[in-house]
Amino acid sequence: MFGEISNDQLALDTAPGILTIDLGALAANYRLLRQRVGAARVAGVVKADAYGLGALRVAPTLYAAGCRDFFVAQFAEAQAIRGALGPDARLYVLNGLQPGAEWACAEAGIIPVLNSLDQVENWSRHARARGGELPALLQFDTGMSRLGLPPEEVETLLAEPSRLAGVRVLHVMSHLASADDPESGQNGAQLAQMRRFAGAFPGVEMCFANSGGIFLGAEYHGALVRPGIALYGGAPTAGVANPMAPVVRLDVRVVQTRTVPAGARIGYGGAHVAAREMRLATIAAGYADGLRRSLSDRGAAYVGATRLPIVGRVSMDSLTLDVSALPPGALKLGGLVEIIGAHQTLEDVARDAGTISYEILTSLGSRYHRVYR
Ligand SMILES: *Cc1c(COP(=O)(O)O)cnc(C)c1O
Repeated sequence: MFGEISNDQLALDTAPGILTIDLGALAANYRLLRQRVGAARVAGVVKADAYGLGALRVAPTLYAAGCRDFFVAQFAEAQAIRGALGPDARLYVLNGLQPGAEWACAEAGIIPVLNSLDQVENWSRHARARGGELPALLQFDTGMSRLGLPPEEVETLLAEPSRLAGVRVLHVMSHLASADDPESGQNGAQLAQMRRFAGAFPGVEMCFANSGGIFLGAEYHGALVRPGIALYGGAPTAGVANPMAPVVRLDVRVVQTRTVPAGARIGYGGAHVAAREMRLATIAAGYADGLRRSLSDRGAAYVGATRLPIVGRVSMDSLTLDVSALPPGALKLGGLVEIIGAHQTLEDVARDAGTISYEILTSLGSRYHRVYR
């Protein structure tokens, strides 16, 4: 009586929403970035579970597209994907190592980014204790005041090069604070500072550009670029047409529809009062699913080309749409509306939410059914 319904089909039918991740588009974005940078190597930044899209699917796809350099933020993230990649893959830990992690890092063949004299000292001591050399990237702070050796620590290091004993510096590195804004004077200032520091390490090439940095021009590329968001379809540069292919599509299911009279209060706090009779649909995703509360009474979903505005406050597990623009009965229990897709980009949702695409992607969470194509 209940038939032969597969677990996959059941998961799809009962999911609150479907997050479709186009691995083909991911690989196409990787190839496009490779064309942009010519001779430089293109790494994949797969921190935070590949910006929420699943590092265990994303990293092997990039590897198959020719990527051999992978950046994560935390040591545990590198450990989690090490076995999914070929032995020739290089994994770098952006935050560097916490004291005590050196042995495990060296054993796993994972490469730390050294951000301070403390981290240099710990890695050097460990290398000398092992009686060999250990690889690292050496990061300088060129003006972001976040990670990397500040200028006075660089001076100390240059005055006392023995501090790097046992450390093989593969690249000198820094990170741009305003790379998505080509007009920002910070970019040129950071590049000039990076070149001054790099000049003290002859023969060691630079690793500098994130997604935005790649599009600032060839002088920013160095030997190894580190794109994240552009691989995932986000815009590398603000305010211009996005050259990247969309990777993510998000469709969410309707869990209830109703018609309310003028004057009805909609959602928490009664924050939205219906100005006229409205047809409403409540959908099965809310701020716990990355549809941030700042989308309350802002932003929309789509059915085809029809825009369905979000009305009232976004709840944890649901939000309500004004579907009056659709014919009565067009949306039913179980029906799907588009949140990210052909009619509304990731960047559109981020703008409506008052945030950036990075935060939308990394907040999508685990409740959607994921389909990898
Ligand atoms: C996250 C990160 C990147 C990737 O940045 P995108 O803007 O996503 O391309 C590159 N480098 C560092 C140091 C980062 O923290």
